Amino acid sequence: MTAAIEVLGVARQFRQSGGMLGTDRQIRAVDGVSFAVESGTCLGIVGESGCGKSTLARLILGLLPTSAGDILVEGQRLSDMDRKARARLIQPVFQDPFSSLNPRRRIRDIVAMPLQAQGITGRAQATRVDEMLSRVGLPGTIAERMPAQLSGGQRQRVAIARALVLRPRIVVCDEPTSALDVSVQAQILNLLAELQRELGLTYVFISHNLAVVEHISDRVAVMYLGRMVEQATTEALFAAPQHPYTRALLASVLTPEPGLGVPDVGLGDLYPDPANVPPGCRFHPRCPAAEARCAVETPAPREIDGRRVECLLA
Ligand code: SF4
Repeated sequence: MTAAIEVLGVARQFRQSGGMLGTDRQIRAVDGVSFAVESGTCLGIVGESGCGKSTLARLILGLLPTSAGDILVEGQRLSDMDRKARARLIQPVFQDPFSSLNPRRRIRDIVAMPLQAQGITGRAQATRVDEMLSRVGLPGTIAERMPAQLSGGQRQRVAIARALVLRPRIVVCDEPTSALDVSVQAQILNLLAELQRELGLTYVFISHNLAVVEHISDRVAVMYLGRMVEQATTEALFAAPQHPYTRALLASVLTPEPGLGVPDVGLGDLYPDPANVPPGCRFHPRCPAAEARCAVETPAPREIDGRRVECLLA
């Protein structure tokens, strides 16, 4: 198998101005992350709100430049590609189908937009739009409607049709089911899984919902404060989590509300401020297994039986 995506030591910092004392704060949203996604597979990325997973999605989509590191898509540096080339290779599906579709345009025009941008017009464009709407399970009559006339599930199907109309090979799904009613979430998830199989797509699937990630992913990466603290096959990670943070996430019996971050995972302290990352292991203030050295030693990633774990005790 070849890697569709390789993320190599990627970091992204933001400067946030005007804190309490009027001083700038440096937010390390993504802080030295490395992973690869094999072609035709799905990597699920989980973590609490604020862990950096949505920033990572935007970096992989080329919507934000990296502060450090490289992203390779099918062996090419993402930063060397122009917008059109990127759009042919990699497309997003975002969380909120209500805000991601232009309310003043017909569905046909919305789905056609990526084709238009590539110079595909006329009959070829219309045929591709009709094919795509049918592929995501929408009737042809939808094409002439406006977004406000559609249900949430139908709108997310339109967003998926728009993402796939250029026949990209990679799709980055950022919480694609979180804004939907629970009854519709499973339908959209099944549709995404079916399209992945039929079209041989590679997915990066970001969610705070562990059940959703377990359902669709081949591998799972767990993010905490801008780092990936554990990566493993879905089966191995759910059967025997090695990192204390992964164990805490999996032990959480609370069901996250749609649109919210991972709820209290039973770790006591609140999620740390990303502008004030703890020294040593950044998880140590909340870690039930922490030892004295965890406050001063930074764990390096270690490979153990095909999984990667960042913990001094693993
Ligand atoms: Fe916990 Fe220490 Fe491992 Fe960090 S290095 S996860 S604090 S045991």
